[in-house]
Amino acid sequence: MVAAMNSLFLFRGPLTIRALAFVKASNSIPIRSLPLFHRPPFSFRRTMSSTSATNDEETSARVAAADADTGGPTIYDKIIAKEIPSTIVYEDDKVLAFRDINPQAPVHVLVIPKSRDGLTQLGKAEKRHGEILGELLYAAKIVAEKEGIVDGFRVVINSGPTACQSVYHLHLHVLGGRQMAWPPG
Ligand code: 5GP
Repeated sequence: MVAAMNSLFLFRGPLTIRALAFVKASNSIPIRSLPLFHRPPFSFRRTMSSTSATNDEETSARVAAADADTGGPTIYDKIIAKEIPSTIVYEDDKVLAFRDINPQAPVHVLVIPKSRDGLTQLGKAEKRHGEILGELLYAAKIVAEKEGIVDGFRVVINSGPTACQSVYHLHLHVLGGRQMAWPPG
């Protein structure tokens, strides 16, 4: 243990201190609230994921869940209305698919219903939503084809705070372009 500590201090220079400061800052600031160019790369975030990043995600998810079912607009309403820019991959009269602003894989596309109609999360689905749920899944397959990943891709729906849902407008994550691991975190 002492030897390990000594070797840490042997390597300790300005770079090490900056790296440690960065980890500390990342512990206290949710990554999603950082400007894109200040966010650490995915690979680095994955190495931190067992400690700080997971806590950040959980905290953000709890905050988002607090007003999840007020029926208020979400960021996706602005994307649907084209009030804020997004990179659209596929669109029809019921469904919009656009690239995630914080991609977790080379391909990371969100597929959403244009009309939320009570579908703040999958856990709120009713029988009457069957048609749009099918449309969303089919759109995920079209996206996978368009993105050249139809031979292997993953579709994820986070529902509720325990699953770290952060936007309360049902959405499918279509992920691919790299080897996926199982089980998911
Ligand atoms: P959730 O955590 O609710 O399953 O996923 C929400 C997703 O929406 C996240 O992956 C997040 O990166 C994405 N997101 C949040 N805000 C925006 C935005 O303004 N534009 C885009 N393209 N994606 C966003």
